[in-house]
Amino acid sequence: MTFLGTGGGRHTTMYQIRSTGGFLVEHDGGNLHIDPGPGALTNMHRIHYDLTKTDSVIISHCHPDHYSDAESVIEGITRGGWVKRGHVYGSPTVIEGMGGLGPCISPYHLGIAAGHTVFRPGDTLDVDGLSISIKKAVHSDPTNVGFVIDTPHGKVSYVSDTEYSDEIADQYIGSRVLILPVTTPRGNRIRYHMCTDDAVPFIQRVKPELAIFVHLGVVILRRGVDEEASYVQQETGVRTMAAHDLMVMDVGEEISLTDATTYDDDWIPSTAP
Ligand SMILES: [Zn+2]
Ligand SMILES: [Zn+2]
Repeated sequence: MTFLGTGGGRHTTMYQIRSTGGFLVEHDGGNLHIDPGPGALTNMHRIHYDLTKTDSVIISHCHPDHYSDAESVIEGITRGGWVKRGHVYGSPTVIEGMGGLGPCISPYHLGIAAGHTVFRPGDTLDVDGLSISIKKAVHSDPTNVGFVIDTPHGKVSYVSDTEYSDEIADQYIGSRVLILPVTTPRGNRIRYHMCTDDAVPFIQRVKPELAIFVHLGVVILRRGVDEEASYVQQETGVRTMAAHDLMVMDVGEEISLTDATTYDDDWIPSTAP
């Protein structure tokens, strides 16, 4: 799993203080891109990842830090719109639009993919053989959800934007890795998001092997996100870290964390015309 972006919230996103490109999940059945926000395309080029290798895309909700590069990702999946392939998964606002939000994927882009699916909490998706269950969230896009990815080496969960509640946290019990959107630091709770104070009970309830902060807002980045993560580690006894852009996590028997090789050049993928 490659973290194409670790920023979140509108200010980190608009200034691109951290990238907001979501995650690339390379698994036995194919390649999946989750939440391709701004920076996804740029970072895929930087690591020489050919996006025509992507098979499916999941968009959690209709906020630009989660979707803005998605239509280009679909063009990648479909080899520039020439090959009908791949699957687009999204919440109701993403695919259909609802209550003034979205749709954020045009009918044209839904049409060039082989298929699309609207998900809701309680659903289980079969994404190219990878089982992903959809969990409830409490967010300003009311259709947002979180994800539990069932890998051969345990459950890896990506909790997309939500407020904290015990009920929200308990959905992720059994996760080996818990990827948490911690938008703001201690003492800075904002509506519809989590702060460091929320990460503590969340991680205490779930007790994962590893907790990773993502969706970092400007205030937590200014405050020092590594300090916030070590505070949570101290409070919970669970290994906790803040992700950085282009970090690569390999979940096998061990969990290994490395950095993707980056390039700053005019690489032209061999699949480009
Ligand atoms: Zn967000
Ligand atoms: Zn959001």
